[in-house]
Amino acid sequence: DKYVYSFSEGSKEMKSLLGGKGANLAEMTNIGLPVPPGFTITTKACNRFYEEGQELWQELLDEIHIHLNGVEERIGKVFGDEKNPLLFSVRSGAVFSMPGMMDTILNLGLNDRAVKGLAVSTGNERFAYDSYRRFIQMFSDVAMGIPKVRFESLLEDMKEERNVTLDTELTAEDLKKLVEQYKKVYLEEQRKPFPQDPIKQLELAIKAVFASWNNPRAIVYRKLNDIPHDLGTAVNVQSMVFGNMGETSGTGVAFTRNPADGENKLFGEFLMNAQGEDVVAGIRTPNTIDKLKEIMPEAYNQFAEATQKLEHHYKDMQDIEFTIENKKLYLLQTRAGKRTAQAAVNVAVDLVDEGLIEKEEALLRIDPNQLNQLLHPTFDEKALNSAELIVKGLPASPGAASGKVYFHADDVMEAKARGERSILVRQETSPEDIEGMVAAEGILTSRGGMTSHAAVVARGMGKCCVAGCSDIRVDEVNKVIKTRYKEIHEGDYISLDGSTGMVYVGEIKKVRPELSGKFDKFMNWVDNIRRLKVRTNADTPRDAAQAVAFGAEGIGLCRTEHMFFDDARIPAVRRMIVSNTVEQRKKALDELLPMQRKDFYEIFKVMEDRPVTVRLLDPPLHEFLPSNDEDIMELAKSMGIVYSELKERIESLSEFNPMLGHRGCRLAVTYPEIYRMQARAIIEAAIDIKIDGYENITPEIMIPLVGDSNELKYVKSEIVEEINLVFEERKTKVNYLIGTMIEIPRACVTADEIAKEAEFFSFGTNDLTQMGFGFSRDDSGKFLNEYVEKGIFEKSPFEVLDRDGIGKLMKIAVDLGLKANNKIHLGICGEHGGEPSSVEFCHQLGLDYVSCSPFRVPIARLAAAQAVL
Ligand code: PEP
Ligand code: MG
Repeated sequence: DKYVYSFSEGSKEMKSLLGGKGANLAEMTNIGLPVPPGFTITTKACNRFYEEGQELWQELLDEIHIHLNGVEERIGKVFGDEKNPLLFSVRSGAVFSMPGMMDTILNLGLNDRAVKGLAVSTGNERFAYDSYRRFIQMFSDVAMGIPKVRFESLLEDMKEERNVTLDTELTAEDLKKLVEQYKKVYLEEQRKPFPQDPIKQLELAIKAVFASWNNPRAIVYRKLNDIPHDLGTAVNVQSMVFGNMGETSGTGVAFTRNPADGENKLFGEFLMNAQGEDVVAGIRTPNTIDKLKEIMPEAYNQFAEATQKLEHHYKDMQDIEFTIENKKLYLLQTRAGKRTAQAAVNVAVDLVDEGLIEKEEALLRIDPNQLNQLLHPTFDEKALNSAELIVKGLPASPGAASGKVYFHADDVMEAKARGERSILVRQETSPEDIEGMVAAEGILTSRGGMTSHAAVVARGMGKCCVAGCSDIRVDEVNKVIKTRYKEIHEGDYISLDGSTGMVYVGEIKKVRPELSGKFDKFMNWVDNIRRLKVRTNADTPRDAAQAVAFGAEGIGLCRTEHMFFDDARIPAVRRMIVSNTVEQRKKALDELLPMQRKDFYEIFKVMEDRPVTVRLLDPPLHEFLPSNDEDIMELAKSMGIVYSELKERIESLSEFNPMLGHRGCRLAVTYPEIYRMQARAIIEAAIDIKIDGYENITPEIMIPLVGDSNELKYVKSEIVEEINLVFEERKTKVNYLIGTMIEIPRACVTADEIAKEAEFFSFGTNDLTQMGFGFSRDDSGKFLNEYVEKGIFEKSPFEVLDRDGIGKLMKIAVDLGLKANNKIHLGICGEHGGEPSSVEFCHQLGLDYVSCSPFRVPIARLAAAQAVL
């Protein structure tokens, strides 16, 4: 087996073997870009490393040796040489880029001899010892787990002693002393001297990379991002070039387009006389890439040309790391640039317009869930103008967030558990903070640029982030943010605007975003390709209007019970429920009728000629009743009955297992007058709106929780009778449909019988999942997490539709339903209707539409289009 590939042997297609970084280094080498030579140890070697009990085996070491010699020959330098030593960087490179894993060790190969060689070959002793002390720290920290502070405090002490503020002000002699001190720390911590054999250093570094695949942070990250644990990581060993050789050297990172909004303009930052980690670590504030044009026009032009070449080659926006060594440009990495949803859509549309990719490809480039970012609120302009500005930082990841300030990831997670919204405030985040970043509404840092950890990770999560606020001091120990004028303590509210970088005092009102321009164009392509229609679940005119703005083509589920909970109505609803006689109940229903009629009228009006499915009352009645004595007393008084009588009535309605109890169409079997009132309200509203000019109104009346065709037959006969009464009274008619939810397993397997009575089916996959698995919707959250953690389930079936079981039930229902009634309309209105993988399944099943909450409508539209491609 071959475990090691030189860069010239690989290609971008070999990602799974060489990791993302290795495959792209190979690709860049092969298209003639300036890449320092090196080799990649494969992901397969990582897996074998674990099989070997976390050891490297001889064959592998031999292979590495051969490649090492190859690099030595190409460059004309020797590893560990005392005259002109070859040095390496060692970097992990998983298939998916993964913060939390061992990142980089630079200057590997330096030892007490080679450092002298480096001083000679570069003619720069200071540089040589600076490289050596950096290497000792990085190797100790990254490969051996010795805390960085042990070295950093020595560096600080040295600067203090020499009375200087910048690292660059230390002399060669200072650095030599530091190197000795650093080696002593290593000896203390490891009880072994710092390894002087470069081969030994390399072996230890490779082992550290492989081992970092399974460190806790990497595992958490994989879980959060659905990355399989058995992929393994590759290791890239690359000959060093130096950005810290003086003022004609530098290093930086750039995106071929703006990762925040997609603007087609080189976007990035760099530092002169620095090594890679200086840019990301945020210790010195980098320059924007434009500045390079002024400082070193030739290198800049060469770089700009290379970025163009890469973007055309990969046909996507690239994120590129580069180093300039004595005016000579080298490329160290390229990858598809992480971007905000806004940038993703804008770039995809631009790439189509520029002729680089096809529309279909553009549609596949966007993860439907990513659209979430585009659909969420921003701060209200007016509220913003009167808000007190604290400071301006870098607009690292767009969005608007308000919350209480916390300084540690753990505190954020605890706050979240208490139901608080919070902002994570750090000097700079690190992979340890990931879970806290997930739990926070937004992230604020005082250090670091647009490519800092906080910025990159927040953008990936679609989380609001303001980074590099250098005008504040973040005191993580005393839990306080200090500005020149103000102190903000833990628990105080602040607001972040991730699109402007502004940070404000207090909470600020938010508004919903407007979507336009390129997004519209993109969604147009989406709509032209998809076959599935997308409706929304909405039960207020406001939600309906929002959904229409997001492209909903109808209402697939209007849950009427939500109209019953309104404060103004609940007394009448309660009187209706506790009535002892049909007359009493009808009286209460008569009070509710005009309210319901108005509800439906308003919704029909918003939806214009789009279809609207109204579901009749579903939940068990006792859910509407008061539970505390005070409220019961009040209700009794308003009804003119005694407390004890009412209390008894309420108790008699309580159920051990309400989800399987007296709900849905079962209510109508007992109290048909409830559904009659609702059907009347729907039809009267439809007649009213028809008179007002909406000719095509065809309300769809949906009966919930049907498990047997006879239930549907009975309920239908009741409501049809009522509808006919309305037609007679109003001397006019409207078209209407009567259909049913399919949400009980028995309904699926008897769907042919049910289809004879129904004009449409709408799958209620929430209940179908509950009853299909026998998992309580309300209680299973407690243990389903563990199913996922233990790998028994990949995802909760309440989140992603279970195709094998619940999906099979749906398939049976679709087949049987169509066989008995080939005109039947088919839809889904469970939560799965807005989840991309479930939408794909609904497309494959041949449903006519999916229905989901308003904010998921664009997501469902895109998922429906991707299902076709
Ligand atoms: C369902 O069960 O999937 C459904 C849409 O109805 P509800 O969530 O209201 O029970
Ligand atoms: Mg249901």
